[in-house]
Amino acid sequence: MRIGIIGAGLGGLLCGAELSKTHDVTIYERLPFIGGRFTNIPYKGFQITTGALHMIPHGNDGYLAQALKNIGSNVKIVNAEPEGYFRLNGKNHIYKDLFKTVTTKEKLNALKLAANLKFGRVDKNISFGEFLEGCPTALLVGNSFTGWALSLNAYETPMSEILEIQKLHSKFGGPGIPIGGCKGVIDSLVEIINKNNGKILLNHEVSKIEIEENKGYIDSKEFDIIISNASPTETEKMSNINFIQKKPVPSKGIKVNVATKSNMVNGASVIFTADSERINGLNQPSNVDKSLAKEGHNLIMLHATQLKSNTKSEIDIVLEDIENLFIDKDYEILSIQSYNNGWPVNHASNGTDLNPIIKDNFFLVGDGVKGVGGIEVEGVAMSAIKVLEHIKT
Ligand code: FAD
Repeated sequence: MRIGIIGAGLGGLLCGAELSKTHDVTIYERLPFIGGRFTNIPYKGFQITTGALHMIPHGNDGYLAQALKNIGSNVKIVNAEPEGYFRLNGKNHIYKDLFKTVTTKEKLNALKLAANLKFGRVDKNISFGEFLEGCPTALLVGNSFTGWALSLNAYETPMSEILEIQKLHSKFGGPGIPIGGCKGVIDSLVEIINKNNGKILLNHEVSKIEIEENKGYIDSKEFDIIISNASPTETEKMSNINFIQKKPVPSKGIKVNVATKSNMVNGASVIFTADSERINGLNQPSNVDKSLAKEGHNLIMLHATQLKSNTKSEIDIVLEDIENLFIDKDYEILSIQSYNNGWPVNHASNGTDLNPIIKDNFFLVGDGVKGVGGIEVEGVAMSAIKVLEHIKT
């Protein structure tokens, strides 16, 4: 079959790499580079990124890792050990010690919350913030987690998503960082597509998709199947089909890359900064792969959910947080990157994703169509797995 894919982001490449084994695949990418929001940008000797924090939410065992292995990618993902820390009143604690840090007054409520979460005795229609209200310490930490992982605050995060995330976490475990960072993953997929004679056309913006009964057209070129890795909203605009009933709501964020000589984080772990005003967490990907930082330095990546529409004043709050976090350290801010409008953190924030299957010959893939509980690229992989299974059957 002839398969046309719009977009060479992670979603488009996962589908392209698998389908190019048995089909004739062409991928159209409007930018001059491959990887969308999941690739590296070399800058001042550091490998910063077009989007992601070089992290894979469920590490070497999650949906993305499994999809990569099935496709034949040989990228290595190093799991975090311990999985994460949270910072309260200037001190780091291991994530699992949350219960020990809550005040005596909160302990009973914290016990109840933990039991309710474990046994699924939770109203799925409330938000994570509402669920945590009886325990202010857990709310602070929970808010940092959803900010880091989903770019949502706890009150914007549906409890239905948290329950699924909890299940996936029990099944797969916590995060990891790939060798080579985001680009390590992308390069491994491109290598497979090239080996299978798939085509990736750069600087090629698609403006029109036409879907007919058993075929479709991308800018007048005929295909048997069309997969769009562009956002659902952009895809609908360029296609002859209306498929969006409820508009997905994108999530926005601000990322800061910092160079330090001192060590801030262990291995592939994350520190959730529950005592910061806007920053949700930080990691140090150069622990896993030294080539991500300039010799003798560490690359620290800090992420904040953008809560208000004025990006400039949100960045000012982020910079104040950085001063507090690095108070006794030598550091250099390498870059500040903001993510909104056409280049957001996620095209659909968790809970507002669409279904990737539009018709038997027309599909969506990417972070506008993640499965329930799919954190970031794990959700992208879930969408690719669903589309690939549908095409195979
Ligand atoms: P994209 O990467 O956006 O790919 C879509 C591609 O389609 C793009 O290259 C685009 O140029 C192309 N395209 C669009 N329209 C057209 C057109 N008309 N014609 C041709 N080409 C077109 N996820 C994690 O798992 N871990 C993290 O640490 C992490 N951190 C993040 C931090 C930030 C600040 C941000 C912004 C995101 C982060 N994410 C993280 C999310 C993750 O980066 C994205 O979910 C993922 O990269 C999205 O992949 P995608 O394939 O859905 O979309």
